[in-house]
Amino acid sequence: MRNWSSARIAQVTNSQPARDHAAAIDAALDISSTHLDGPAVEMLPQAWREADLIVSHLALGATTRLIAPLLEDKHTDPGVVVVDEAGRFAVPLVGGHVGGANELAAAISEALGGTAVLTTATDATGLQALDTLDWAHEGDVAAVTRAMLDGRPVLLDRGLGWPVAQLAPSVSEDAVGPVARIVVTDGNEPEAGSLPTVTLHPKSLVVGMGCNKGTSVESLRALFDATLADAGLHPASVVAITTHEAKAGELGLLQLAHQLGVPLVDYTSEELNRFEAPNPSQHALDAVGAPSVSEASVMAHGASLVVEKHKTPEATCAIGRLPVRGLLQVVGLGPGARDLLTPRARKAIQQANLVLGYGPYVKQIRDLARAGATVQSSKMGTEAQRTAQAIDEARAGKRVVLVCGGDPAIYAMASPVLEQGTGGIDLEVIPGVTAELAVSAILGAPLGHDHATISLSDLHTDWRVIEQRLEGAAIGDFVVTLYNPRSRTRRMHLPRALEILGAHRPPTTPVAVVQQATRQRQKVITSTLANFQPDWVDMNSLVVVGSSRTRFVSTGDGEQRIVTPRDYQWMGGEDTRERDARGWLVAPATAQDPEASA
Ligand code: SAH
Repeated sequence: MRNWSSARIAQVTNSQPARDHAAAIDAALDISSTHLDGPAVEMLPQAWREADLIVSHLALGATTRLIAPLLEDKHTDPGVVVVDEAGRFAVPLVGGHVGGANELAAAISEALGGTAVLTTATDATGLQALDTLDWAHEGDVAAVTRAMLDGRPVLLDRGLGWPVAQLAPSVSEDAVGPVARIVVTDGNEPEAGSLPTVTLHPKSLVVGMGCNKGTSVESLRALFDATLADAGLHPASVVAITTHEAKAGELGLLQLAHQLGVPLVDYTSEELNRFEAPNPSQHALDAVGAPSVSEASVMAHGASLVVEKHKTPEATCAIGRLPVRGLLQVVGLGPGARDLLTPRARKAIQQANLVLGYGPYVKQIRDLARAGATVQSSKMGTEAQRTAQAIDEARAGKRVVLVCGGDPAIYAMASPVLEQGTGGIDLEVIPGVTAELAVSAILGAPLGHDHATISLSDLHTDWRVIEQRLEGAAIGDFVVTLYNPRSRTRRMHLPRALEILGAHRPPTTPVAVVQQATRQRQKVITSTLANFQPDWVDMNSLVVVGSSRTRFVSTGDGEQRIVTPRDYQWMGGEDTRERDARGWLVAPATAQDPEASA
């Protein structure tokens, strides 16, 4: 989700419900928008002059009539979202993509519990819009989008092999008889050909700069522009300005980075001196202790030098290109409920060229993959091949998403991926809500204090080791969550685990099982160590065993919940609890002392 605080947002209201909605939107988006309350004929034009985005709490017709005479160009007009008086609908009227109105409408509908009414064609048909990618774009977006929507062949030129988000089924690198083209380049727009063209600028360039104290932003900008232009490179592909630590506070450099919307990244002499720059200078060595700033800082940032140092009497400038690599994202889907899938995970799936994973997980998100993406399910037991395929396809320059239930690093695929080796590709692990957290929330707060997670699957771990860990958790009086508690062939593991834990905590200790947490067939059973029946448990369950301090509480209409106390009582007052000579709390009775806890 975008950071709305950097946009100037105005809300036009003239009723109490509208004012309430405006306040709710501010709170949900964490912004302080300008509220223009009064006659719409004055307020809307004022908002138009002052804001980047307008939320009009007026009728669609009234809003349309009032902004009609003001419309000029979608690249400069503010985006406008109309919200009805009941807050049920948020309608982007103009500026859906470039103006950000679609995105704002989506955020508003979420805030007010309503629906965003998106009428831009790519959103309505589930295609990726060219003007909402993370990359800057130029060219004939309307014509190329039309070709994509009509399913006509569009030629994709991936330049140096940059991985491109999944666009539409008819976009391909070997399109026959194309009617439009998409060119990915960090250079300038390609020669106009006969085909309507959109140019996408990947985030690939790093510009290293050094300068004398007090060099103005204008003179730095002139050198920056000239160096890029000489090499035929485009400023929209620049992702960072790099420099020496001594220049980190240089106003001109900071202003230039701000103008470009990129960070100014600085390196120490030690970091810079590790690189052999082609054009070192005595002047730089004397001034900051490093013979090269512009060239070496580009290399320190992980880029390879593509334009050697250009200089003026005041400043130096060199350009590097980041390695072009395919992308593998290992994505956690959460426990099952769609609204527990994170926005970051959703975006990764939507942009993927290839989505793969274990069948049930793939099924959970199949609808999110874009038309044209390859979606592949595999069986349990094929993890090694699945991992190898994901890495290979990323090496071939694709955007690959490997999906996992819950979190991808908890008993899941992130480990085998990293173990197999991901040299030559970019790897991103996107976290998910692990089953344990979902189950904990359903039960109340069983994990309110120290807890341990143990998998009872002896496919990956020797059973003797699992018993040792259970023993350790039992002695430590940890709340214990058991993953993989039972399968058709592993029936005796759970009873044995409960026996080990039961030897160190009272028979009244709460034990709960949650099957299919947050899914349609969710089932919860709470019990105690003495009464718990392993038969209640299947493969799609988690079992939570309380510590000696965990207890039952009731909520609502007497529904049972489980809490492990956090012991907040002392906070805010004086801490009168007993401490020993070292100042450490004298431990309350625990299960290690069976007499005291029984
Ligand atoms: N990466 C996953 C765990 C994979 S191991 C995560 O972070 O949640 C698979 C085990 O997780 C299952 O045998 C079961 O014990 C547990 N599990 C996964 N999803 C679950 C759910 N929705 N409800 C209950 N248990 C679940």
